[in-house]
Parts: sequence; structure tokens; C-alpha cells
Amino acid sequence: MSQANATAEPTNRPPDCNRTGIDFHMPMPRLKVKGIVIDFHSHLLANRHGPVWFETAAHFGIDCFVTMSPLEEAVGMLRDHPGRIHFIAVPRWQDATPDYDDWMRRIEGFYNLGSRMVKFHMSPGTLDRWKWRLDSPTMRPILREVTSRGMAIMTHVGDPETWYQGKYTDHSRYGTREEHYQMWESVMREYPNTPWVGAHLGGNPENLGRLQRLLDTYPNLSLDCSATRWMVREISNQRDQAREFFIRNAGRIIFGSDQVSGDDRGFDFLASRFWAHRKLWETAYIGPSPIVDPDLPQDQQPTLRGLALPDSVLQSIYHDNAVRFLDRLGLRFELPPMPQTKAG
Ligand SMILES: [Zn+2]
Repeated sequence: MSQANATAEPTNRPPDCNRTGIDFHMPMPRLKVKGIVIDFHSHLLANRHGPVWFETAAHFGIDCFVTMSPLEEAVGMLRDHPGRIHFIAVPRWQDATPDYDDWMRRIEGFYNLGSRMVKFHMSPGTLDRWKWRLDSPTMRPILREVTSRGMAIMTHVGDPETWYQGKYTDHSRYGTREEHYQMWESVMREYPNTPWVGAHLGGNPENLGRLQRLLDTYPNLSLDCSATRWMVREISNQRDQAREFFIRNAGRIIFGSDQVSGDDRGFDFLASRFWAHRKLWETAYIGPSPIVDPDLPQDQQPTLRGLALPDSVLQSIYHDNAVRFLDRLGLRFELPPMPQTKAG
């Protein structure tokens, strides 16, 4: 503990994951989904986080995960949670600069563990930190490797509009949102047959018109609806238009949480994310979000406005679309049979 913390006055401030004091252990109705519920965008970062991760997921009715995990953790996860995990291949994020040879080896390693998707993190912050671009010549061999293996691509392009209006205003350093989407689309056009996921509603939930154009232009593009605070803020902000967008594009949107595990992230933290997503997509809840949104002032914290999506749309986003996407890649989740209770 730092000196500052050690001497700080004790406060009664509630935790950032539960500013409204919800009892996340209260039961939530089981999802009305036929088949398994899949979280298509998650970050289970260490196998030791697995027990509380799966306990929390079970409480919220989420069965299986597509996760961006370090390669070093992957074998243990597959052993301990058979049939519940598929991996999206990622580079070694903690490196100061990208190591393309290492990433190439990791893609092969993940492929050998059954992974059929690769993540390209191309947010403004990552473009700046790693001095790379999706459309750069150095990325070509990676893209060729991925597509020639028949793997799918997930891209993170864009970021919250609040960040473009805030920390990304130096365009000479970060570029503009328009430039970022030109970069993405120029590469997506080159690989029209590659199944593609635009993370976090294509990185621009604030602009449903842009998302509609992307979906209409690129038939192999799907969008995941991951990132809890971002989605709560921006989907709630245009609740009725967002609901129409989800219904119109029900076959193209895949549920993801963007849940990130951590040594200090227990049941309540993980529960807050699943709780907010389920309220947002399934219910007509109108009320405060339990999660502090650091992008907004204390006195303007967001009101969560649930979309109350029709059952058929929920079936698509929680199950059907993910299953269909994975099936194209030759993948499925195969849960082990339930343990038999002895009769008599
Ligand atoms: Zn993520």
C-alpha cells in the first residue's frame, strides 16, 4: 500500500463497480435462450482467475467464452474448463514494441490449441503506443498468415467519442476517427471472404448510421456489443434508435461483455458487468447504472435504459450468431455431459 493510501482518511465511498449498493447475489431470471449462452468477447487473463469467473458467469447464466488470453495460460484453461473456452489469438500485449516474429509463433500456437480467430488491436491509443497500423506493410505477412489459415479476424478500431473529444484531440499524434475507419475498411475490402468481427459495436456505438453502412457494405462483418460502461452510456443515450438497430441487424450482432479478469476482481466486480449487460439487452430497466463511469462527471452518471429486446433477437445475439460464426470456422462448444446422480 502506498504512503498516500496508508494515511488517507477512511471513506464510506462505495466501490466503483457498485455505487448503488446492489446485491449481485440476488437471483436473476434464467435467460430465455435455447442452447448455451456465449460471451464472444472476453479477457480471462490467468487460469487462476477461472473459479470465480465461472462461478459468476454461472450465476448470470453465461456458459461459454471466446477469450483473449495469454498463450501461456491457455492449456490450463482448456484442461480445467473443457468445452467452455475458445481463444482469440493475441500478441504479447505487455511488450513495449510489437514483436512480429513472436506474434507469428503465437498465432501458430493458438491455432494448434484450436483457435480460429486473431485480434488486431487498432485503437487510437494502440496505434500511438505500438506505432503500427492495420494497413502497414509490416502487417501484411500477419494478415496473409491469418487468412491463409482460414482464421477469422477481430478488430478494435475507434474508441469512445468521449475519448476523441478528450485525450485524442491531438490529431497529428492520434489521427482522426475518419482516418481510422478508412484504415480498417481498406483492409477489410481486401479480404472479403474472411469472417470479421468489429469489436465494441465497431468502435462507434455513438454513430449507428456508420454501423449500418458498414454492415450493409461488408456482408462478412459482424459486430460484438461488448464494453460495459461504453455500451451502457451510449446505448442508453439513444435507447429507441439503438433498439431498432439491434432488431434490424439481429443476425449480425454477437453478445460480448469485454469482461476482464484480475487478481483483485472478485464476484462483485465480475457480476457488475454481467448484470449491466443483461439489464441493458433484456429488460426495460430505467435507473442508475451500478458502475461508475469515469468518462462522465460524478453528478452526471449515466442512467441505464434497457432495450427489452424481443426474445428472438436475444436468441440471435446470445447464441445463434456466435454458433453460426464459429461453425464457419469449424468450431463448436462441447460441454461435458452433466454428472449423473445415482438413482435410488
Ligand atoms: Zn476487449
